[in-house]
Amino acid sequence: NVPLQKEDPEIYELIQKEKWRQYSCLELIASENFTSQAVMEANGSALTNKYSEGLPGARYYGGNEHIDVVENLCRTRALKAFQLKSEEWGVNVQPYSGTTANFSALTALLNPHDRIMGLELASGGHLTHGHQTAKKKISSSAIYFESFPYQVNPSTGLIDYDKLEAQADGYRPKLIICGASAYPRDWDYARLRAIADKHGAYLMADIAHISGLVAAGEQSSPFALCDIVTTTTHKTLRGPRAGLLFFHKGEKGTLRGDLEERCNFAVFPSNQGGPHNNTIAAVAVALKQVAEPSFKQYASQVRKNAKAVAETLQKHGYKLASGGTENHLVLWDLRPIGLNGNKMEKICDALNITVNKNSIAGDSSAFVPGGLRVGTAALTSRSFKEKDFVQVAEFLHQAAQLALKIQERSGSKLLKDFLAALEKDADVKALRVKV
Ligand code: PLP
Repeated sequence: NVPLQKEDPEIYELIQKEKWRQYSCLELIASENFTSQAVMEANGSALTNKYSEGLPGARYYGGNEHIDVVENLCRTRALKAFQLKSEEWGVNVQPYSGTTANFSALTALLNPHDRIMGLELASGGHLTHGHQTAKKKISSSAIYFESFPYQVNPSTGLIDYDKLEAQADGYRPKLIICGASAYPRDWDYARLRAIADKHGAYLMADIAHISGLVAAGEQSSPFALCDIVTTTTHKTLRGPRAGLLFFHKGEKGTLRGDLEERCNFAVFPSNQGGPHNNTIAAVAVALKQVAEPSFKQYASQVRKNAKAVAETLQKHGYKLASGGTENHLVLWDLRPIGLNGNKMEKICDALNITVNKNSIAGDSSAFVPGGLRVGTAALTSRSFKEKDFVQVAEFLHQAAQLALKIQERSGSKLLKDFLAALEKDADVKALRVKV
């Protein structure tokens, strides 16, 4: 057994560099977090060697006596984390990621070419909720199903439920998907349920971004009103990279009657092969942590921190999509100051601040996103409090001001000229952040 450092120094070195990058930069990507050492250990364990197609107690391979216990523990802990009763809800913990969890949900609920409605990507939705452009169907969820996305109102940044209802009346979807990757507000599940019920449609919530907040009671829970709930495990939930697929166990013969069989079958054998048992063990560890009181404090701090960022940026006169935040992220509309997300992301990278550009509803081009998505989940795991995030927001303010100066110095609005000027700029070095 040769250690990695000796066996493959090249990869070892790159891992060390990435570790240092994560440690020394301000990590503000809203979909990322720092998982615990215990989760890492489970994820890097001998469980990675085992095949276990099937479900606990019904496998296609021998030698699964320990794996069965791990997967059952993970399922029990997943239900507990969201305060669900096993008579009402079940969960499949095998999805490799949020994308496969979502596609499995669609496979379970729909026939090819059935109609779906999800939040448009440009409004903060996710690819897997039916993303397509005018020219091309991008996601499998749009290739195999007919997608008609709904939007936020560009002037308020809030989901336009009235318009969604009117559109659903015309489109008569079989499935409405709620949930987003860049929506700073909570969801009106009751309104969505009422719209779905008008058309006998399923309602699915993808709570990938907010699941840690939902588990901690910091956001509304969708479970009482949805048929299916999916989530990733690595964002606010702070686990390893994977997905969970929750299904309601309804009465036989009803819309929800056989979701358990359909969802389990959709994950395996329809969309996946053998589960990644090391990851499932690591998810179980993360879910144990979610049940601890310290996680509630963490989730509450994540929200307070996002509010501190929002208020600080607003004090400087900046515009935020939806006018603020109720969750772990802030969507900063850079268009009013004459900047865009591409340039802001690049200058932040140069300053050791890791963020991502993001579309803002009403953007004139998908290639020039008008905003920046700022998330607080990761740095809150590093014990940042409100005062620290006020400072983070001050850095972001300085970054934006410097970006404007560099844009002016470059004498052009083009990204390539901006990047050339950025490389030469002496002020960038002086402003570089060190955590
Ligand atoms: N759903 C939402 C709302 C997401 O934001 C994401 C990823 O960011 C996913 C699904 C996909 O998750 P994964 O990258 O694990 O496939």
